[in-house]
Amino acid sequence: MHGTEEQKRRYLRKILTAEELWCQLYSEPGAGSDLASLRTRVEDRGDHFVVNGQKIWTSGGLVADWGLLLARTDTGAAKHKGISCFLLSMRQPGVEVRPLRQITGSEHFSEVFMTDARVEKTDLVGRLGQGWEIAQTTLSYERGGSSLARVTRYAAAFRQLLRAVRKLRRDGRPLLEDPAVRAKLGGERLGQRGEAGDVREKCRPANAVGHDLPPRERPTAVTRNVGLKMLQQFADAHCTCH
Ligand SMILES: Cc1cc2nc3c(=O)[nH]c(=O)nc-3n(C[C@H](O)[C@H](O)[C@H](O)COP(=O)(O)OP(=O)(O)OC[C@H]3O[C@@H](n4cnc5c(N)ncnc54)[C@H](O)[C@@H]3O)c2cc1C
Repeated sequence: MHGTEEQKRRYLRKILTAEELWCQLYSEPGAGSDLASLRTRVEDRGDHFVVNGQKIWTSGGLVADWGLLLARTDTGAAKHKGISCFLLSMRQPGVEVRPLRQITGSEHFSEVFMTDARVEKTDLVGRLGQGWEIAQTTLSYERGGSSLARVTRYAAAFRQLLRAVRKLRRDGRPLLEDPAVRAKLGGERLGQRGEAGDVREKCRPANAVGHDLPPRERPTAVTRNVGLKMLQQFADAHCTCH
């Protein structure tokens, strides 16, 4: 939506074919929920840009060829306005990726350190200072899509849970006859229907970005919160059945 024709020609096909893998360089140690506080700096050096700073929680950072980078380009502007968006090559000496090992042993996330890393002038996305708006767009599509997938996953998990409580017995009776289990499963089912409708509505393309809505009502926030609420409700119902 915000890229030039040249950027679309250069990058889109290889994203689709997975010839080039990408990561998202947004979060920083001091800028998670409050993303607009990010401090990674990009300076204009005439024929190219130079990046200095650190990112964290970068999914797929270890395998990525390219990163979609949010960085501060104007320290004098209001914090949301001084941010710009760039396409950063991860395969260069100024970019160091360190894995973050989780308790499971997996290394899905990483920290990314950028020291005088180079960005070509042609790899600025949109205008200087337009980064916040671009981030809202990318997150709206990402969160919308992942929430729809979550709704489908929970619906399948719910059906499995239902099969299990029909078979399992407690004190000689099917678990499904336990009033607490029935109440929880009923609540979960109704919740799922409502949430699924809400996610579908919010994810309609016409609604997908919602720049004109207050922050809490934007699809980015709504679909993320719906997904988290469904996860909590499902876990709660699951615990009652155990
Ligand atoms: C699976 C997964 C993949 C991710 N992948 C990426 C990625 O690829 N690239 C990337 O850039 N980032 C990624 N992130 C990071 C993510 O998008 C958020 O930036 C990050 O999880 C939130 O920042 P934080 O962990 O520093 O939490 P914090 O911002 O420190 O928040 C901690 C807690 O405090 C709460 N909180 C914060 N501020 C307030 C407030 N003002 N009032 C009330 N409560 C508050 C939050 O809701 C949260 O529960 C990923 C995260 C996850 C979980």
